[in-house]
Amino acid sequence: MSELALEAEKLDAADELAPLRSRFVLDDVVYLDGNSLGALPANVPDRVADVVRRQWGELRIRSWEESGWWTAPERIGDRIAPLVGAAAGQIVVGDSTSVNVFKALVAAVRMAGEDRTEILVDATTFPTDGYIAESAARLTGRTLRAVTPSEVPGELGGRTAAVLLNHVDYRTGRLHDLPSLTSAIHAAGALAVWDLCHSAGALEVGLDQHGVDLAVGCTYKYLNGGPGSPAYLYVRKELQPRFDSPLPGWNSHTDPFGMSPSYAPAPGALRGRVGTPDILSMLALETALDVWDDVSVSAVRAKSLALTDFFLRCVRAYTGPGRVESVTPERHEERGSQVALRCDDAGEVMKRLIARGVVGDFRHPDILRFGFTPLYVGFGETERAARILGEELA
Ligand SMILES: *Cc1c(COP(=O)(O)O)cnc(C)c1O
Repeated sequence: MSELALEAEKLDAADELAPLRSRFVLDDVVYLDGNSLGALPANVPDRVADVVRRQWGELRIRSWEESGWWTAPERIGDRIAPLVGAAAGQIVVGDSTSVNVFKALVAAVRMAGEDRTEILVDATTFPTDGYIAESAARLTGRTLRAVTPSEVPGELGGRTAAVLLNHVDYRTGRLHDLPSLTSAIHAAGALAVWDLCHSAGALEVGLDQHGVDLAVGCTYKYLNGGPGSPAYLYVRKELQPRFDSPLPGWNSHTDPFGMSPSYAPAPGALRGRVGTPDILSMLALETALDVWDDVSVSAVRAKSLALTDFFLRCVRAYTGPGRVESVTPERHEERGSQVALRCDDAGEVMKRLIARGVVGDFRHPDILRFGFTPLYVGFGETERAARILGEELA
């Protein structure tokens, strides 16, 4: 056994989060794609079966009340809240991240006021955020400028209405400095909108602590909610009375069953709702969140950094010099929970890795991406993944 494999055994033996692996349905595959689709929590299939057979099949319409369907968006929002450092009553679950980016950004621009004529968007953003920002700017009559997160402080000014940023870059795994960027945005009198897709469930976010205005995130990555599980929207408590949704539906009406022809928004987080929620996905997500019971995000973060550090060391040990280049920052303060390696033939290499039971993903044009989900990824399989990668790159 190699020295690194021995070290991995010791690290696994000392890992206090290792028992959490049994809360998931897993096999021999080294699954390093939880940053794209989290693994299936073991308690979800039975819950979904119960929701379908009993709540829908037997109780039918009664379930909106009796099975808590109607209040699920706020209830599940409150389950996500502690994972992103938010007090209760500020998060609502529903719709996709893309749709919530739209709601959040348009609402932010409306709150910023008429004299604020410019929106800044992360130039390195996941594409959907950029497309939506462009449309939001057109609809609100603002101009849009794409700048990298590090350029943001220098580009802010009296015209800035809102800034839309990704907490962790989906390609490189770079973690941006949410506290200092948020305070720079506030110093300029603008609103900060953060996309947490690649950070929530992997590291501490501290939404309340850092005074973030609005935030969105998906639940099918590090929160393991299942394919297409609904996203969430955070609106800071003090802003809720001024949150003017561009998608005001009957579900966010103060009296939804009054069926009034005119819209009057409900108070609180549920002002972010739109229409009838997707209950099957939503309740699968609710059950998926049980895996977080008695798990601290700081312990998850510590293990995540240990895993990515260890993976980088193993890759260096097992891969010839110059064959791959890590584009993920070395510094912990700048690293999310993934390792991205640049490699000319990345697409082909990833196909071979998957065939050998190491599942990461390929991002155009030359990135091998490996996501580390501390709830179920161990050190032994991390070493194995790096070893197989080294063999395939030889
Ligand atoms: C995954 C991801 C999305 C996904 O948006 P959907 O509407 O769920 O397809 C959006 N933004 C970022 C930064 C992401 O990583």
